Amino acid sequence: MTDTLPTVISRNPADPADVLLRIPAPGAFTAVDTVERARAAQPGWLLAGAAARSAALGAVAAAVEGAADELAALAVREVGKPLAEARAEVARTAAIWRYYAQAPFEPTGAVHETAAGPGLLLTRRRPHGVAGLITPWNFPFAIPTWKAAPALATGNTVVLKPAPEATACAQRLGEIVQRALPEAVFTVLPGGATEGNALVSAADVVSFTGSTPVGQAVARAATARGIPVQAEMGGLNAALVLPDADIEQAAAHIAAAVSGYAGQKCTATSRVIAVGAALDPLREALSEALRAVPVGDPADPATVCGPLIHEYARDQVGEACRGLSVLAGGTVPDRSGWYAAPTLVEKVSPGHRLLREEVFGPVASLLAAEDLAHAIRITNSVPYGLVTSVHTADLNTALSGLDLLDTGMIRLNAPSTGVDFHLPFGGSKASSHGPREQGRAALDFYTSSRTYTLAP
Ligand code: NAD
Repeated sequence: MTDTLPTVISRNPADPADVLLRIPAPGAFTAVDTVERARAAQPGWLLAGAAARSAALGAVAAAVEGAADELAALAVREVGKPLAEARAEVARTAAIWRYYAQAPFEPTGAVHETAAGPGLLLTRRRPHGVAGLITPWNFPFAIPTWKAAPALATGNTVVLKPAPEATACAQRLGEIVQRALPEAVFTVLPGGATEGNALVSAADVVSFTGSTPVGQAVARAATARGIPVQAEMGGLNAALVLPDADIEQAAAHIAAAVSGYAGQKCTATSRVIAVGAALDPLREALSEALRAVPVGDPADPATVCGPLIHEYARDQVGEACRGLSVLAGGTVPDRSGWYAAPTLVEKVSPGHRLLREEVFGPVASLLAAEDLAHAIRITNSVPYGLVTSVHTADLNTALSGLDLLDTGMIRLNAPSTGVDFHLPFGGSKASSHGPREQGRAALDFYTSSRTYTLAP
């Protein structure tokens, strides 16, 4: 959603009358001023040294763990994340802070021989300055963290512009982080498009996660300024099921990836491609698995599929499925809040919206492929390329048959959702722009290399 807001409002998607937060949007001037204060704080943060930065990040990890129940409850209430997933996200958030707490002690360069004669050459990485982070609402703690922790570990200061829908979560995380850091090293800048634009116009490096149209505009604006930028954007992810797969297990994994958090993950499965004889048993098993998904109150630990973030998001699911052959779901559960039932449709014509655009909800299309090569062509036929799950018992297929798949990540006999936090994360085409996030790749993104020549 592109949002220019006079007021930032966030509400409980399971109970829209429950307003968590209503504050005036700070505006572009305040955004630029916030970046200037972060810029003034950056040399002190860098020169504080590796031990101070490491200790601060470790303290954040401990504080997140100490506040785990409270943070999980806040994510349930503000963004409708089912409690079990909210708890997992908070645990992952603490783990990411702890992982990057070691990073300040990592080598930042190398020693090289001169091409001719005596002397020494050194390379050393240094931070860019102020990292401007723009984040979506669906992982309100983990995504800000997997950007902020490597940026801070390498000596940048951070201004985080969260999605308006997740402002209360970001502010609470901000309080925890700020308590462990010197002033102005980490600041939360609430707001929408106006503040996001201003941040891109003033920061020294930009990391964005959100929808593809906004991410592409952010990438263009940052590139025009000549600053490093990465953008993680949408997906239209496929699950490939081969005839030799354990069909019941594949159906369970796919149902989880379609319906978990009401399909509101960039890695959710939205196309299910059955190869040959897998089609009939998969149709039956997956329809059944989706009908059995617990839909309901996100505060209930048993809930898998909670509400959608907005009324229009719920309505979009219904509109996208209109006129299609519905195998499961396709209904709006009879309860307050913006719910849609986990849905599987088939007989979707090639140009249909569900096969071109990301519909951020619990809906997937069942498609048939003649063989693996055909399934790969279907997978690659969309503008996105984030993740593919492949379900097969054949190790050769898994290891060498997938070279032509054009997605950044492949998950074998597993749901398309869920990626370890210490590995590179990202995709191809309209799903990602620029270097990968997470793991060591992030330490490179937030720094640039300097070459030193030491004459003899
Ligand atoms: P969104 O694009 O509407 O908003 C993302 C962020 O951009 C928000 O902070 C928003 O305020 C800000 N923004 C909006 N307009 C802007 C502008 N003109 N300039 C600068 N900033 C601007 O996305 P959303 O609805 O918050 O999140 C859902 C989307 O995020 C989905 O498309 C999903 O696939 C994607 N996503 C991708 C990943 C990934 O890693 N690939 C992860 C999670 C979510």
